[in-house]
Order: sequence, then C-alpha cells, then structure tokens
Amino acid sequence: MRAAVTAFVALGANLGDPQSAVADAMERVGAIKGVRLVRQSALYRTAPIDSSGPDYINAVVEIETALTAPALLIELQRIEHEAGRLRPYRNAPRSLDLDLLLYGDARISSEALTVPHPRMLERAFVLVPLAGIAPQRVTVAQLAAVRDQLIEAV
Ligand code: ATP
Ligand code: MG
Ligand code: MG
Repeated sequence: MRAAVTAFVALGANLGDPQSAVADAMERVGAIKGVRLVRQSALYRTAPIDSSGPDYINAVVEIETALTAPALLIELQRIEHEAGRLRPYRNAPRSLDLDLLLYGDARISSEALTVPHPRMLERAFVLVPLAGIAPQRVTVAQLAAVRDQLIEAV
C-alpha cells in the first residue's frame, strides 16, 4: 500500500441548510475508503465573493489518504453530486463545494486538477479555517492580504 499523504480539503455551501451540508460532508469525506479524517476546522460564515445568493458556510479538513489526488477528486465530486450539487454557471450558489487545496507537497497541473488550489491564497474563507487547524501552512502575510474579507466563526 502507498504511504499515506496529508491533504487538505475546503468545504463550502450556501444553499439549503449549508451548516448541516458542511458538517455532513466532513463526515462523508472521513468515510471515503482510503481516507482518515485528522482534523476539522470550525465552521465559518462568509459573504459571497465573485458569487451570489445567501452567505456561505465554509470549513477545511485535514486528511490522511492512500488515494492518488485524481482518485480523491473523484470521491469528492461523488459527495458533491450526492449533496445535489448543480453547476448552472460559474460561481453559482451551491449545495456543496469540495476543493482539494493541498496534497502533500505535490504540484499538479492537469485539465481536471490543479494543486495547490490556484485561488486559495485569495480567499479568507480558505486561509482562516486552514490556519486554524494547520498554522504552519499559512503565513501571517497571507492572512493579512485577505483581512478585508468578512468572515466569522459560526
Ligand atoms: P473554484 O475552483 O474557483 O473554487 P468552484 O469550486 O466553484 O470554483 P467547481 O465547479 O467546483 O469550481 O469545479 C470546476 C472544476 O475544477 C472541476 O470540474 C474540477 O475538475 C476542477 N478542479 C481543478 N483543480 C481542482 C481542485 N484542486 N479541487 C477541486 N476541483 C478542481
Ligand atoms: Mg470552490
Ligand atoms: Mg469546486
């Protein structure tokens, strides 16, 4: 069996009952075969950015996984699909979004998958929960760069 890789997944939702959707999705990520949930951040409420609709609930989880990054993405997309995720247009409101932020130290650039997630450093809703569970992965300067974005713990 391949050695376990530490990875981080961002969760977000702003339709239906987003708090339950994110809490439930954390459990579902931990239940993927070949994934162990190591840490889960608090839940945060954020205003939509480049998006619309109700406020978002966001969180980040740290996992250990024996899956390859593409195999993990497929499992994350299955969970999104099961949560009723539709993609009517880019940045549309969503029942659940699961993005792979980091996969070990890997740099991946394929059509289906870019890691580290290319927009993670622009987003307080990613950096603040990530810093909460993995402070060594986020710098003070990175947090300072997104401090104008409204975010509050739920
Ligand atoms: P953003 O990527 O800006 O957060 P989004 O999460 O709303 O936008 P999605 O509609 O969820 O975008 O995903 C669009 C595509 O992004 C997916 O089909 C997937 O193949 C691709 N993708 C590329 N890199 C990643 C990644 N690191 N995590 C999740 N999806 C990714
Ligand atoms: Mg996203
Ligand atoms: Mg996504």
